[in-house]
Amino acid sequence: MIYKSLSNPKLTASFKEAATTGIAPDRGLYFPDHIPVLGKSFWSEYATMDKKELGFEVMKHFVGNDIDNDTLAEIAFSAIDFDLPVIRLDDHIGVLELFHGPTLAFKDVGARFMARCLGYFSAQNGEKTTVLVATSGDTGGAVADGFLGVSGVEVVILYPSGKVSPLQEKQLTALGQNIKAIEVLGSFDDCQEMVKTAFVDQQVRSTRKLTSANSINVARWLPQMLYYFVALQQKKSADNPWVISVPSGNFGNLCAGFVAQKLGLDVAHFIAATNSNKTVPDYLNSGVWTDRKSVATRSNAMDVAHPSNWIRIEALHNNDLQKLRSHISSFSFTDVQTMDAMQRMYDQYHYMADPHGAIGYLGLERYLQEKPNHFGVFLETAHPIKFTEVVTEALGFSPELPDGLQRLMHSEKKSTVIKNYAELKEVLMQKQ
Ligand SMILES: *Cc1c(COP(=O)(O)O)cnc(C)c1O
Repeated sequence: MIYKSLSNPKLTASFKEAATTGIAPDRGLYFPDHIPVLGKSFWSEYATMDKKELGFEVMKHFVGNDIDNDTLAEIAFSAIDFDLPVIRLDDHIGVLELFHGPTLAFKDVGARFMARCLGYFSAQNGEKTTVLVATSGDTGGAVADGFLGVSGVEVVILYPSGKVSPLQEKQLTALGQNIKAIEVLGSFDDCQEMVKTAFVDQQVRSTRKLTSANSINVARWLPQMLYYFVALQQKKSADNPWVISVPSGNFGNLCAGFVAQKLGLDVAHFIAATNSNKTVPDYLNSGVWTDRKSVATRSNAMDVAHPSNWIRIEALHNNDLQKLRSHISSFSFTDVQTMDAMQRMYDQYHYMADPHGAIGYLGLERYLQEKPNHFGVFLETAHPIKFTEVVTEALGFSPELPDGLQRLMHSEKKSTVIKNYAELKEVLMQKQ
């Protein structure tokens, strides 16, 4: 597979180059040159494939010869070797639970895949790599866990001070070893901007080999399509066509869903549900893209004003607004609506959702009001315990802390506090 920069198609890379550099030299996002359609032989086996086969058969098209077959099968499997169940709430609605991985977030899938790829490449050529990543909460924990102890890779994580939950903060500041947490006095967009600046800073680049682990990196973003494949294995023949509602921030999840659909997966329609950071729903409504600052919400993992993967979704639709409108329904919801949905879901289904999943549910509810002849699935992107404060406020009681996390909550936080890019640069210019 060849990857091309979306801002200059002459800049191409192999999977290995795209994964180890993260972003193209012109700051463009890498995108597959073409997306194959999976053949009859795949679909005739699909229903009964185990996760190992499934992961390998899907990912091999995107990795090519850069990783040998046995290793790739292991890597793809490790990314999805936990449950990804579709829980049916009633005859029309199901929830795809993506939080059964080690950090209780869907980001475990991409982070574990990517960490193992970089570990493999680093062992091959003996080169050290630094993973530089901005997180609004969940990415950091998943990346820290995925990369912990991977030799040859140092991880530097930027997060907005005071804007991640206590559990999330512990997940990224308490591990130590090859994981360094940088606490930024600013917003997630500020963190993301600093990361982008570091990537084009020649002084930094000559000191360290840098790559990203945000969904801008193809090795982090593409494996996310695997859980759509696992989900659709759970479709029943009596079901109406499936529509999937994706609570969206940087739109990596949704974009991976579209790639899965292009590969031939049977998803009738996608819904992009956002919080009050509604750049995309507003754009699809009005046809005018308006730049905004991000606003803080109760679903803070989606507080993104400039979704980096939107450009990939546009590319998948030939940058055609009408096409985008016919393939995506997009709605935004306020915090009040989110809290209300969490309560209603608990009352009606006895289901405890986190605020992001609740937004997915709201998107689905809105869509099904107009198009009832579907089976709707929304993604539950994090375990409610990761957002205890919000859940407790909505329901009046708190979710239980899973056993493994007790120890983490009592471990010591270690972070470096910074205000601006110059301070980040100082950290990055230190020898490893
Ligand atoms: C990252 C995240 C999202 C948003 O996913 P994107 O791929 O950035 O759109 C939604 N929910 C949770 C809990 C997340 O951590």
